[in-house]
Amino acid sequence: MSDAVVGVDLGGTKIAAALVSEEGAVGPVRSVPTPSQEGPDAVLDTVAGLVRDVVARGGVLTAPDGTATATPDTPVRVSGVGVGTAGVVDSTAGTILSATDALRGWAGTEVRAGLVERLADLLAGGPVTVENDVDAHAGGEAWLGAAAGLDSVLMVAVGTGVGAGLVLGGRPLRGARHVAGEMGHMPSPDADGLRCGCGRPGHLEAIGSGPALHRYYLSLGGTPDAVDTRAVYARAVAGEELALRAVTDSARAVGRAVAGVATVLDPAAVVVGGGMSQAGPLWWEPMVAAVRTELIEPLTDIPVLPSALGPVAAVLGAARTALAARTVPVA
Ligand SMILES: [Zn+2]
Repeated sequence: MSDAVVGVDLGGTKIAAALVSEEGAVGPVRSVPTPSQEGPDAVLDTVAGLVRDVVARGGVLTAPDGTATATPDTPVRVSGVGVGTAGVVDSTAGTILSATDALRGWAGTEVRAGLVERLADLLAGGPVTVENDVDAHAGGEAWLGAAAGLDSVLMVAVGTGVGAGLVLGGRPLRGARHVAGEMGHMPSPDADGLRCGCGRPGHLEAIGSGPALHRYYLSLGGTPDAVDTRAVYARAVAGEELALRAVTDSARAVGRAVAGVATVLDPAAVVVGGGMSQAGPLWWEPMVAAVRTELIEPLTDIPVLPSALGPVAAVLGAARTALAARTVPVA
């Protein structure tokens, strides 16, 4: 019998999960919409249902080198569940310390206890681990992705928010108060006068996130015909000067902040993921240029790499944390 855990990526719009083996072979990723406005019990019910579904369906587990390590004919024993979730997470207790309205009522949720209760028969004492989704994303990239084989990596995710995770020696750094990596709430000179989602003015997320880029474009006098960030980017590609300025300023703000963090930590590499990192060269190039401009000599050549695993990164990273938490050797 083959042994595996289920990795779960729990976001505000969808929940994705897959079987993951010790070697990093991953099964088919299944996802369902997050009942984000129905409260924590509905969300936990949905996660537990998805985990059961993933286990019941099984499927071929494919290793990073493309070989199949488990097939539908090989029963899989599930010995743990790893969850990466939006919000500030106490990963020791498996609880949510704070979260945005994207998941209504999520702050205070006992995720580990709730899933242990719902999945007790399936897990037979195996661990449920809970961590921040960007930490999970970073863990996945450090394990099998863009930073595989490196001892340290700074992973920055730029999408609906701006977050980061630092992995040292294969382990995400959590911090004394579970906030390590919350780059979005760093003061940013580029965000001067712009209000952050946390209520304070001048934080990076207020200019660097995808939605913030759209708001910034409108604040510069951009047309409301551009209804979202994607539309602003398309206008920049088409040559509209104001849109190009908004995209460039937003990307540069992220790059400067990355340079600041990289200067303090000197990681082996920086990996940049999230929706904005996929937008295109008009975002990516000024972001990297801003990183390079700010760095002193020994740091100037630090690799700044796009995320290699895409959406499956957080599933893999969350699974890896669960694999590491198993104390009982599996026969
Ligand atoms: Zn903030």
